[in-house]
Amino acid sequence: MRADSRKNMALRIDILTLFPEMFTPVLGTSIPKRAAEKGLVSYHLTNIRDFATDNHKSVDDKPFGGGPGMVMMCQVLFDAVAKVEAEDDRPARRIILSPQGKPLTQALAQELAAEKRILMIAGHYEGFDERIIDGLKPMELSIGDYVLSGGELAAMVVVDTIVRLLPGALGAEDGAADETFADGLLEYPQYTRPREFGQMVVPEVLLSGDHRKIAQWRHEQRMLRTRERRPDLWQEYLQRNPDALEPKKKKR
Ligand code: SAM
Repeated sequence: MRADSRKNMALRIDILTLFPEMFTPVLGTSIPKRAAEKGLVSYHLTNIRDFATDNHKSVDDKPFGGGPGMVMMCQVLFDAVAKVEAEDDRPARRIILSPQGKPLTQALAQELAAEKRILMIAGHYEGFDERIIDGLKPMELSIGDYVLSGGELAAMVVVDTIVRLLPGALGAEDGAADETFADGLLEYPQYTRPREFGQMVVPEVLLSGDHRKIAQWRHEQRMLRTRERRPDLWQEYLQRNPDALEPKKKKR
């Protein structure tokens, strides 16, 4: 395959941030790095401060009406988005990282992994002038019900979650099919050598070589775990799978 056609197939992820250097170790390691090397994704970091026009390189100002902290200003963000979006013909799915946003879930990550281009904006300080959200109409996305100092770590979480879902990003041996949340259930317990560790032994069935039994045991374990640990997910699973038997709690 020619290099330019591979490039067009790759998901393009633009990240607008005040701290691009924070991304280097994460995007340059492990699966995010390998996915880029395989041509599945390309990362483009833009420093929002490069779009400041005054001598102080200001990107924020005090909130109207008073209150603590600083608010990120409109012009720099609108200019940065316009410049970055013009770099590629593909329309970008705009995302602003925000604790007030839609919660990131595996289902949403799967939806985002099907996009051709994603543009994420990481906030800082007290957040954004509301007109940035009104004008750019991004999806506001939260990685959880807690407040980070900035959107960079959140953006990295989103990138990692999406990139590992791109076809070919994971090797066959560590595929995402059975993973936690893949079909609304948590993953089954895993074991590796040694068979005995002190008093703790690997469940007999996993050593049996009987693949049908192993698959059945794993599925039961997934249901048990989900019912015990995440009753919310378990109820949703039961609604989608009304025939799923209520698993009996088994000794492992
Ligand atoms: N004042 C804002 C509020 O109360 O909603 C919080 C601003 S927070 C200190 C600064 C930036 O960190 C946000 O603009 C956002 O980009 C990012 N951030 C913080 N928590 C986040 C979360 N849970 N998910 C995604 N981004 C988050």
